[in-house]
Amino acid sequence: MMDFQDENRIITPDFTETDRDIEISLRPKILTEYIGQEKAKENLKIYIEAAKKRGDTLDHVLLYGPPGLGKTTLAGIIANEMGVQIRVTSGPAIEKPGDLAALLTNLNDGDVLFIDEIHRLSRAVEEVLYPAMEDNALDIIIGKGPSARSIRLDLPRFTLVGATTRAGQLTAPLRDRFGVILRLELYTPEELSQIVKRSAGILDIYTDDGGALEIASRSRGTPRIANRLLKRARDFAQVMSNGVISEDNAKIALGRMEIDEIGLDNIDRLMLTTMIKNFNGGPVGLETLAATIGEEAVTIEDVYEPYLMQIGFLAKTPRGRVATPLAYEHLGLKAPETDKKANTQTSLF
Ligand code: ADP
Repeated sequence: MMDFQDENRIITPDFTETDRDIEISLRPKILTEYIGQEKAKENLKIYIEAAKKRGDTLDHVLLYGPPGLGKTTLAGIIANEMGVQIRVTSGPAIEKPGDLAALLTNLNDGDVLFIDEIHRLSRAVEEVLYPAMEDNALDIIIGKGPSARSIRLDLPRFTLVGATTRAGQLTAPLRDRFGVILRLELYTPEELSQIVKRSAGILDIYTDDGGALEIASRSRGTPRIANRLLKRARDFAQVMSNGVISEDNAKIALGRMEIDEIGLDNIDRLMLTTMIKNFNGGPVGLETLAATIGEEAVTIEDVYEPYLMQIGFLAKTPRGRVATPLAYEHLGLKAPETDKKANTQTSLF
């Protein structure tokens, strides 16, 4: 079993400490600066305009999709476009119902409350959220036993923006209370290349079109990874050449970071080779796979699989995960003959 530390993994889409300094300066502040996600943007634009025209708050918004795609950024943009303040917290940070009550009562009229990882709220906390979302009210129980009674406090009007990597794990009553549900998609290399150029401009990094596209194509559809690779590629460009990131020196830099030409790193390759060599290409169950490569099942689901599925290297079947012929080909391995037979047979009928 191999042990890979996530913090050392340059292409982890999770937020790491080293991202902190650059992320703040790179976050787009308004909708027109936010690249890609056209569908989500178009809808949001209409809802924001309509709410502003009515002088109302925006309906509660649920954003879901893999980490690093711009959910926190979008929450900030929503607040900005609505001209209100944003309070940022996360599911695991709100431990008790009282913590949430304190947050809610401290909001100003119309504010955005952003709860990241909202699927990790405890049940007790979630129950405080229901009347708050529905009626802008807080139900407080006073006293104990038979004499206990509940009083209702009015809250400021607010917009809850919830973010989650897994919409399926939200309880139905919580999900139903969001008026707007937006799914963020992995970005295309062209979109990521625009993001790389924009970030390079802000950080005074020089990159030509080829260099930007090379970084973009290896960032597994994720802006956070693209920004991180951009910074690393600059180091290589400065040491190896005149400081301008070109296709050539980006290729060398990314190769040194062991990120291959389609953005796979050691763990992706380990996962695919394990499926192929130990499980004959699958189907293999998530838990078994996780135990074999020494990763958490949730990490595999949230972080590795979305991209491998998007590029068609991995398929989910009711019996487990399967490595596709494309994955075999990429790793230079021969796909089993039985596959071919199965294919011909299906085409016969
Ligand atoms: P999430 O909350 O989904 O994990 P973030 O909102 O923190 O992701 O985004 C990570 C970084 O990626 C941000 O700092 C931002 O610079 C960049 N980013 C995300 N989406 C976009 C976008 N659409 N356009 C430009 N930059 C983006």
